[in-house]
Amino acid sequence: MKRKDLARRYRIADDKKFRLKDIDPEDTWKLKAGDQARQWLDEGVSRLRELQDLLYAQNRSAVLLILQAMDAAGKDGIIKHVMSGVNPQGCQVYAFKAPSQQELNHDFLWRTTKCLPERGHIGIFNRSYYEEVLVVRVHPELLAHENLPPALVTSDLWNERFQDINAFERHLVRNGVVIRKFFLHVSKKEQRQRLLARLDEADKNWKISMADVQERHYWDDYTAAYQDMIRHTATEEAPWYVVPADNKWFTRLVVAEAVLDALESLNLKYPELSDIQRKDLGVIRKTLLRNG
Ligand code: ATP
Ligand code: MG
Repeated sequence: MKRKDLARRYRIADDKKFRLKDIDPEDTWKLKAGDQARQWLDEGVSRLRELQDLLYAQNRSAVLLILQAMDAAGKDGIIKHVMSGVNPQGCQVYAFKAPSQQELNHDFLWRTTKCLPERGHIGIFNRSYYEEVLVVRVHPELLAHENLPPALVTSDLWNERFQDINAFERHLVRNGVVIRKFFLHVSKKEQRQRLLARLDEADKNWKISMADVQERHYWDDYTAAYQDMIRHTATEEAPWYVVPADNKWFTRLVVAEAVLDALESLNLKYPELSDIQRKDLGVIRKTLLRNG
């Protein structure tokens, strides 16, 4: 088994027949928690730091990582652990909650567009415009708050949103943004365990809300919405990774490998100086030495 295959196994690009039930949330690809997994993650995090430094120095491409999941699937842990080694200066993280009135007064890509990563940076979206084909689809009353002209709200709306997302992402890719999307696939059973743990452990109490528990009633609707979303928006240039999420250590490993794979595909190198710039270095050195 090769580390590279770890991420590729869960990569979905252009699969109109994709079925969520084909991926087991408990899967760990025969790996066990423990030393090897920890060593791989540590190595991955160090390599990530090196590549991010190159990305920043080169200042050409940007990387956009999108995290989507049901509650308690481990989005926060991914950000904390996978990105733990990277230089905060080269990383921009945004979490998207229920939209404000001002955000609702704009098209559905407006609020996230303002938060896209700059060249040389890694941007992380903790939830994203994909909520617009997930929670809004599961709870159509949310769509009513968006004040769209009624003639535009047809049975084609979700397909149109998929098309617009694909077109938007293609535009970003053509402008040097590398996009990788992650669905952390947790089981309903494991989610219950984690929500219960949030009740049992005092320092996790702040994390739980009644809304999290109520959303569990819509589990099947969310599953259908996620599956349809992946079928329509997984593309070669902006693939989805459907990552088994019942074992946190495994989820982190797969995401780290996928991010490394994306950065490695850029063949990053430190910028090379021209002959003139190199000459300038000599002048700078002389000036420094002369002026004490
Ligand atoms: P945590 O792990 O801390 O629970 P979270 O990402 O679930 O993090 P919450 O504040 O619990 O954060 O939830 C954010 C809520 O906002 C989610 O229920 C999500 O579905 C909702 N939301 C995000 N984007 C939209 C949107 N465009 N329209 C409606 N609801 C949205
Ligand atoms: Mg939540």
